[in-house]
Amino acid sequence: MKDALFRSSITSLPLLSRGKVRDIYEVDEGHLLIVTTDRLSAFDIVLPTPIPGKGRVLTAISNFWFDRLRHVIPNHATGIAPESVVIESEREQVADRAIVVKKLKPLPIEAIVRGYLAGSGWKAYQQGHSVCGIPLPEGLREADKLPVPLFTPSTKAETGAHDENISYEQTEQLLGKKLAAQVRDVCIALYQEAAEYAASKGIIVADTKFEFGLDEAGQLYLIDEALTPDSSRFWPADQYRPGTNPPSFDKQYVRDWLEASGWNKQTPGPQLPPEVAAQTGEKYREALKQLTGSHVEKLISGYKRFHHHNYEKNHALFQRLAKLGQSPKTLVVGCCDSRVDPAVVTDCDPGDLFIIRNVANLVPPFETSGDYHGTSAALEFGVCHLEVENIIVLGHAQCGGIHELLSQSPVTEPQKGFISGWMKAASVARNRVLSKMQGESMDKLARACEQEAILVSLDNLLTFPWILERVAQRKLALHGWYFDMQCGELLHYNSISKRFESLLKN
Ligand SMILES: [Zn+2]
Repeated sequence: MKDALFRSSITSLPLLSRGKVRDIYEVDEGHLLIVTTDRLSAFDIVLPTPIPGKGRVLTAISNFWFDRLRHVIPNHATGIAPESVVIESEREQVADRAIVVKKLKPLPIEAIVRGYLAGSGWKAYQQGHSVCGIPLPEGLREADKLPVPLFTPSTKAETGAHDENISYEQTEQLLGKKLAAQVRDVCIALYQEAAEYAASKGIIVADTKFEFGLDEAGQLYLIDEALTPDSSRFWPADQYRPGTNPPSFDKQYVRDWLEASGWNKQTPGPQLPPEVAAQTGEKYREALKQLTGSHVEKLISGYKRFHHHNYEKNHALFQRLAKLGQSPKTLVVGCCDSRVDPAVVTDCDPGDLFIIRNVANLVPPFETSGDYHGTSAALEFGVCHLEVENIIVLGHAQCGGIHELLSQSPVTEPQKGFISGWMKAASVARNRVLSKMQGESMDKLARACEQEAILVSLDNLLTFPWILERVAQRKLALHGWYFDMQCGELLHYNSISKRFESLLKN
């Protein structure tokens, strides 16, 4: 577990504000960086003990909803990696817990939607059978589901003060009639879709708070956070009993502890014992897991997006490929590494690349012994049957396979598993690098070995007679490429200068 972040300290960007949980920095005229820290507030007071990982969970939940609800209303997320807007030493602080957003003009209201009678809504109902001026039937109990979800906005209070509920008429005065109606309708649509989805995961979204902003053209955006445990009241469906106050999904544990501690709910709040902080962090992670589901569910929803957007947009292409078969012009030998997808790096379409992926993007030498030559079989198919015109050996920085090769003891150890045996195909590269770069750092050795292994694979390609023949006839060209994901740079091997050089300069 990484350390908790109580307070961000980004010095490469100007700090605009620190909220209860979020620190906001200015990236440039049009963008902000929002860092969600691990601070926890309870009873409106920020506690001195952070909850390790809470900021990451809130960021993941918010991003999940931004993505899922994008079709209802655009949101402020830009897709710009937070690591790319801070200096290197500050990247750790923003990894998985920050978001780069469009700078928008926030509306002066908190847009609350209530699906159930709880909290201040329940208090107001007990006094006069209405919530924020909206009359409700008599006889409702605490936590009862409302006949329809209610839009109950409040003012935005300065830090430290409490927000004040306002009527719809007051909202119209603040926003104008048209915008007030748009915000109300969007809020209800967002809530209904989110509540229906959460219900399918065993979570009741009793109420939630949205914030909105406008761009210069007057377009409305969802901003701040979306449907996190901090901005919403989540109840576990299996513990829901109307007439009682259901336990909230994640903060209840810490609230119970605070109540029992005898704290007077004034600043400063008490330090939480480590086990209470850890347990609370666990509750937040459970909420994330229960809401967003397993990784396979992420893949299935990704497939659905692909089917709706990509497949339909490229329908003609897929039909053509299905009818005429594939005729890729290039074969790529890439690494299995999940971070280096040849089609993503080269922005290619289906049908463009014939890709072989193995550990460390190696081409073994031509052999006539043995039966299970996956890479050689794929080379034969690509070269002899598809008649590709190029073969690219695509290596990459931080390759786990090459790291394994360099860590092997020079005296051959008895082979464990399959990786060390497979990596022997690149031992020439290892030996060359170690003999000429003795005493260098592991990072330098690894980069040199990753690039040297590409050259060894290019040599090994020529041991296949049908490759050698086509190269001699100039029907086939071989290329050595190297991708550095940290700076997004793609290098190619220049056989004249005998160096790897950036393709951006071409
Ligand atoms: Zn690799």
